[in-house]
Amino acid sequence: MIYREYGKTGKKVSILGFGGMRFGAVDDLDACVGMMVAAAESGVNYFDTAPAYFGVKSEIAFGHGFQELRRRNLPFYSSTKTFQSTEKGIRKEIEAQLKRLGLSSIDFYHVWCITSLEEWRTRRKEGVIQVFRKLKEEGLIRHICVSSHLIGDDIRELLMEGVFEGVLFGYSAYNFNVRAKAFEAITAHDLGCVVMNPLGGGIIPEHPGLFQFLKSRPEETVVQAALRFLFSHEKITCTLVGCSNVEQVREAAAAIDGFVPLSAAAIEKIKASLGPSFADLCTGCQYCDSCPEGIPIPKLMEAWNHGKLYGRSSAITDRLSWHWSVPPSEAARCTECGQCEKLCTQHLPIISRMAEIAALPAQKR
Ligand code: SF4
Ligand code: SF4
Repeated sequence: MIYREYGKTGKKVSILGFGGMRFGAVDDLDACVGMMVAAAESGVNYFDTAPAYFGVKSEIAFGHGFQELRRRNLPFYSSTKTFQSTEKGIRKEIEAQLKRLGLSSIDFYHVWCITSLEEWRTRRKEGVIQVFRKLKEEGLIRHICVSSHLIGDDIRELLMEGVFEGVLFGYSAYNFNVRAKAFEAITAHDLGCVVMNPLGGGIIPEHPGLFQFLKSRPEETVVQAALRFLFSHEKITCTLVGCSNVEQVREAAAAIDGFVPLSAAAIEKIKASLGPSFADLCTGCQYCDSCPEGIPIPKLMEAWNHGKLYGRSSAITDRLSWHWSVPPSEAARCTECGQCEKLCTQHLPIISRMAEIAALPAQKR
């Protein structure tokens, strides 16, 4: 295993982390614990969950897993999150989380899922920062972190607070363009930088044919190639993989074996390959992001990609609801002015995609 410094915390975490959002059978605690043990035995020491992965079942499974890791003297760091922002809400949540996880303190505690600056400003106003600071002083959490889906320069406002010690954000060989600016901002602050959705939420393993261009060695799988692409970014501290079974844990861990960082030229080659390979997909460049109606075009278009790759329109609404917190009705505000299509680097039919998305039913979160 390879370990990297998590920002300025003094902690060294494994470049491969265990994500608790994709257990294949979350009610089978032995299976969940077995996956965590397999990960820890391969050197993984960063374990990330959340209070709404399978309801609270992921945190419960983690509690059992941590107990077993302690019994086996396998070192680990715990990571979880909260949507709450008031003192009352956060204290109630963390009390339950510590109980479920069987811990007296959480190593990396995240302000969870910031999808817009408006949302961030609301939580900030409700006192989330002060409460997190208090929790740290009281020893209930060790490090204050944030999980963000902000794109472009928006994340800079979040980081200006100077309170966060690490950021969890989506970045992959599939969507790195959407995150490039955020990545630059995070790394400029010397923070822990943990990547979620490294496999595009399953898009890469489910469409291996589309991602052959990631491979630099014939014997590696596209999953391993996608992970090695991320490991090769020295400023990414840890890449979280959500596995469904022990075999997937082993496949991910095997990406470390014989890992040799890709050269800058090889990384550029992969980036360049994305254009032609995904000719019909939005590349997330954001050049269109100045809609006079305020429609978040890149987010809607990125969700449309999911529909195309998965071959079902519900993948669009899943993505909009669970990742972006944007209802499909946002697209209905399009006046067909055509400005975005003139700006689109990929010459995509944005107006017709807006109409397609607008016709989809909203999903409840
Ligand atoms: S065509 Fe629609 S989505 Fe594009 S800029 Fe105009 S109003 Fe916005
Ligand atoms: S300009 Fe085109 S490719 Fe770029 S984000 Fe907008 S829709 Fe996507």
